Amino acid sequence: MQAILFDMDGVILEGPRTDPQVYADATSYALSELGIDPASEQREAFRGFDTDIITDHAATHGIDPDEFWQLKDYRASELTHERVRSGERGVYDDVEVLPELAERTTTALVTNNRHRTAEFVGDHFEFGFESVRGRDPSMDGYQRRKPDPYYLDETLDELGVDGGLYVGDSGVDITAGQNADLETAFVRRSHNRSTELPAEPDYELESLTELLDLLETAGSR
Ligand SMILES: [Mg+2]
Repeated sequence: MQAILFDMDGVILEGPRTDPQVYADATSYALSELGIDPASEQREAFRGFDTDIITDHAATHGIDPDEFWQLKDYRASELTHERVRSGERGVYDDVEVLPELAERTTTALVTNNRHRTAEFVGDHFEFGFESVRGRDPSMDGYQRRKPDPYYLDETLDELGVDGGLYVGDSGVDITAGQNADLETAFVRRSHNRSTELPAEPDYELESLTELLDLLETAGSR
């Protein structure tokens, strides 16, 4: 197997996604940096990710939507890194296998989460990823997230490989992996026990440690 690429949320970091409170706080920060104080209904919309609605509301308040987006993205990353550093947001026990996998093959991180946070996780835990990629801090970057294979394709190019395995915890990961012509593995965790998948993954894993065997089998084929 040329490479193993990992999703981040729900595979490495505990829980399927960033806590909504992080985006609520990041939104308050960004709005106050830009000097506006919208009513609660509009504030709610700014917390979300609907780029059309955010662009409309930004126009109403005379702020640059991209600048808002970037500030919110930046702050959400800072807040997330704090939560990870303090242990408030943990990692799964089986991530201890990642350095060993990195010794045996090329590993990388490709997530729909923010690029800054992907970089932070790569640096903070020393899992041995050769490449890390998250979504760019812009509305365009948000649109390129999985199931679009954009960030997966870019990572494969960077690694100089044309195949491998993508390990994820959601249907979108399986679709994106297939869109990038990768084999796919679905990790069952407590949050996705009963998730139904849009497409059949090549493997289902109960633990990331099973990747060692899988790598061995693939190597001897
Ligand atoms: Mg995930």
